[in-house]
Amino acid sequence: MTDRYAVIGHPIAHSKSPLIHGLFAQATGQDMRYDLIDAGAEPGGFARALAAFRAAGGRGMNVTLPFKLEALAAADVASADARLAGAANALRFEGEHVQAQNFDGLGLVRDIEVNLALPLAGRHVLLLGAGGATRGALLPLARAGVARIHIANRTAAKAEALVAELAPHMRDCALSGGGLDALAPGEVFDLVLNATSASLDGATPPVPAHAFAPGAMAYDMVYGRGLTPFLRLAQQAGVARLADGVGMLVEQAAEAFAWWRGMRPDTREALARLAGEGVIEHRPGRGYFAPSPTASDIADLYELHRRLTHWALDAAPAPALRVAEAPSPADLRLEILYATIAAAAGADILTRAHRRVMLQLRPIRAVEREVQPADLEQIARQERLLATGRVAELRAEVDAYHDGRRLAAPAVFAVMRRSGQSIERI
Ligand code: NAP
Repeated sequence: MTDRYAVIGHPIAHSKSPLIHGLFAQATGQDMRYDLIDAGAEPGGFARALAAFRAAGGRGMNVTLPFKLEALAAADVASADARLAGAANALRFEGEHVQAQNFDGLGLVRDIEVNLALPLAGRHVLLLGAGGATRGALLPLARAGVARIHIANRTAAKAEALVAELAPHMRDCALSGGGLDALAPGEVFDLVLNATSASLDGATPPVPAHAFAPGAMAYDMVYGRGLTPFLRLAQQAGVARLADGVGMLVEQAAEAFAWWRGMRPDTREALARLAGEGVIEHRPGRGYFAPSPTASDIADLYELHRRLTHWALDAAPAPALRVAEAPSPADLRLEILYATIAAAAGADILTRAHRRVMLQLRPIRAVEREVQPADLEQIARQERLLATGRVAELRAEVDAYHDGRRLAAPAVFAVMRRSGQSIERI
């Protein structure tokens, strides 16, 4: 009989877990089915979906945001990693029992040690963030023999509380914590791990360049197309060993699979297959990454940017529109222009969405300049129209700009593919 598994979350449509577990099942000859379950945003949605899945004969689940805490609470047996993380990312159903595990930290350790070939014993680690991902990583890192971990968090008190709670469980690993701005100037780390969700906002935790030891690795648990803002910051600080969290995702999936099925799939084979299908990208000597943008991603980004600008223009009262800053290099001028439009709409969420898209577009525009010169005249025209509140004409200019960029996307992408350096910049 086919055994049933699933990943549960909200939203969940983007999840790569069904694909990854499908590859594992195929490679190990397991008769299993793996579904996506969106438990929605309503209170009680997780408990209802869990009960329904168990009633239908489900054997186990992966759990992702925002249900990791509820998953732990639903279990009557939990591993030490899940208890200390305060969250579960995998469940197994055995008769009446719900068992909970948290494999995120173990997946991280395996990705770093096996896929990225960085032995962790004796290392000094800077861990950015003090949320669930950090909690889940601490014990597995200590077990791997890390000598020291310093937790730096935006809210210093959260890092300090985490240190007080978990230091007694850290074996021989020294644990300290504080604010992001309180790193001592002489302190250097072999591994800097970003476990904040800052990249999702297009933001970067402010890590000083001196924090990276020579030969250090920068690792972002978040992944998206191309380098995250944190990885770009590390690259600008001269760090050559960069990795995002795609490998961690595959490794934690393999741990869950082994827990459910009693056999661990070969993740190298799965990673190579995922790379072959373009789901992830293999950078020789560097590991596996979320893929660089494709031509259609670039076109989609411009389409998104155009829509955001239209919404902002519709929402902003015309007299409020003005160019706030003095003209500067072309890219910056354009960003200031669009940021001004979004900010004038007075909707924080729109401003944040705009900032994120602009951050993604910034390195693409650097490549665009190799394909076509930045159209300074058009930028100047848009600035004038904005300054005088001529919204209808400005909208037409915005459309012309974005249509031009979308048409140029295949050429931009071709340049990016040809030049490894350009892709690294993304
Ligand atoms: P969380 O519990 O919500 O914690 C978020 C952390 O990020 C907090 O420490 C928060 O600081 C910090 N933060 C948020 N925005 C920031 C900003 N703009 N600047 C500086 N710090 C900021 O989230 P989580 O569960 O720990 O997850 C963190 C990330 O890891 C998520 O993006 C998640 O997708 C990723 N993750 C990846 C994998 C994988 O398999 N690759 C697995 C697990 C998690 P404050 O305390 O000051 O608010």
